[in-house]
Order: sequence, then C-alpha cells, then structure tokens
Amino acid sequence: MVEPLRELAEHLSMALESELFKNDRKLEAAAVSDHSHVLKGASGDHVAKIQQALQLLDSAVIAKAELSSKRYGASTASAVLTFKRRRDIVARPRQSQADDVVGKMTVAVLDEEMKAFELSKQRKSAYICADYYGCAEHDHSKCRRKDKEAQAEIEVSPDGTMSHFGTPRNPLGSGRMVCIGGAWEAEYLGFENFVPDPLQDPDMLHSWVGGRPFTHTLRPQSVSDICFRSTPLDRFMRWEILRICMQGARLTYVSDDPVVRSLMRYFSAIGRVIESGTITEPRANADAPKVSSRYAVTTVLRINPWLDPKLLSRI
Ligand SMILES: [Zn+2]
Repeated sequence: MVEPLRELAEHLSMALESELFKNDRKLEAAAVSDHSHVLKGASGDHVAKIQQALQLLDSAVIAKAELSSKRYGASTASAVLTFKRRRDIVARPRQSQADDVVGKMTVAVLDEEMKAFELSKQRKSAYICADYYGCAEHDHSKCRRKDKEAQAEIEVSPDGTMSHFGTPRNPLGSGRMVCIGGAWEAEYLGFENFVPDPLQDPDMLHSWVGGRPFTHTLRPQSVSDICFRSTPLDRFMRWEILRICMQGARLTYVSDDPVVRSLMRYFSAIGRVIESGTITEPRANADAPKVSSRYAVTTVLRINPWLDPKLLSRI
C-alpha cells in the first residue's frame, strides 16, 4: 500500500476511547498521522482538551490566558514536555529525548490515561457498583449463568456469568432488601426480587411477572434497601415505595438518562438525593463494542407518614 493510502486507511479506522477525546477529528488525526500532530501555536477545542487532560492527569499548571484562548502556548508546551518526560515518550531511534509536541504516541497515552481516569472516578461511587463481577466479597462462579430463553432478562458479563453492573453497593441491610423487576442480579447481596401485582397495577403485565412474588406481600415499612435496575418506576410503585420502605431507606435507581431525569421531581419529593451521576459499563477488551453510559441516581428516602397525597399526585 502506498504511504498516503495507508495513512488514510489508518485514519479511517482510528477511534479514541476516552470521553474527553473521542470523536474529536483533530485529535484522532493526530493519533494516526505525523502530519497532524499538535504543537506550539495551535489553538481550538482540541487544544483545550489536551490542556484539560494535562491538568487532570498531571496536575499541570497552565497559564490562564492559554486556557481561555484554547491556545498551545509556552506553558502548555512545557506541560506536554513534562508529561512526556515522566512517561519516557520518545520516538526512538529518530529522537533521543522527549519534545513538547503532541504526536501519535502522546495522543495514545493521553487517551489511555484519560479513559482509566474517567473509569476510576466513576467507580468511586459509594452506592452503585460499576463492575460486572460485583462489589462485595462473594463466590461469583456460583452466580447464575444465562440459560438461553429461560432467563431472557439476565444481563451477562463478558465471561457469560450474570452481570452485577449497576447493583447497589454497601446496602444498609437493616430491613428487607428488595429488587423491583430484578433478575437475581442483586441476589449476591441478599436482595429479593419482587414485582407489582398486575391486579393492583394497571401498568404491570401478567406476562412480565415470571413467578416473582408481589410487593403487596411486603409488610409496611419493612424494607431498608430497594433497587430498580432499568426497571420502570410506574405510578403504582411510586406509592408502593412509600408504603413498604422504612424511614431512611435507601433507593437505588439505575436507568437511562431521560428516564432518570423524568423521575427527579418524584425523588426530591420523597427523599433526599445523596448521589447522582453517570456510571459507565466497563469494556471487556479493546475490541468489544462500545457500550452506552448509563445514568444512575441514588436516593435516601425520608418517608413522611403524613405526606399530602395531593402533593404526590401532582408529580
Ligand atoms: Zn456474582
């Protein structure tokens, strides 16, 4: 393949993976082509992203004027040089020491480290597990595996075991722990699966019960931990939560961004939101398809027995 064609082919197939860098055409070009490297005098959004990565990864000090104008000036160049020296990023044998240019190797390292940084930040959640294999000591090899159609709802990890991604972490455990619409993904923590009774809940389908017990069998204020994992929170369940949860019970809700947003008014009416953020499903390996990030909200309920029904009916 002649050189320009090879470069074009590489260019077309290159994709950066960190949230900060991905889909940035200039950075993706710099990752594959020596002609597209980023150096002193450059300016634009791609420079701003490099500056941000240097600040986050290396606590780099960059001049205010360069940050506000998104310009690759002297302090940005100096931060790049420091970053490369610390990691020994040198294009040997052509070079003998690091320079202050963001080329193929530097973009790759920045992207890799940003990806790890983003994941480690998201994993700091005290309430939601962002790992396929769970965040509590247990023998994961004993957890269920998907057996074809029988357990269609089970989400699996790359190795075929059930995924604990998005399950609650450090549950309170002072009362019953229930997973609404669950498919045993939080069983390893002691959560029991429940569903609303279709005879009580017009939004619940008989075909979706799947042998799970109904929430009306739970005694009032007996639940300390309740979780929904990509399960709708319908009108009936909004009331049922208030009936079954004890004061201070923790509600963990994990779903797509628009779904969570639509419930925020309800969450803030019934309790205090103690954590809100995005967790990202880990990738099994570099070749695995990218998965969409999920939005997760955790709420601590402060149930008020005299809550005005009119207030809740308006939400
Ligand atoms: Zn497990």
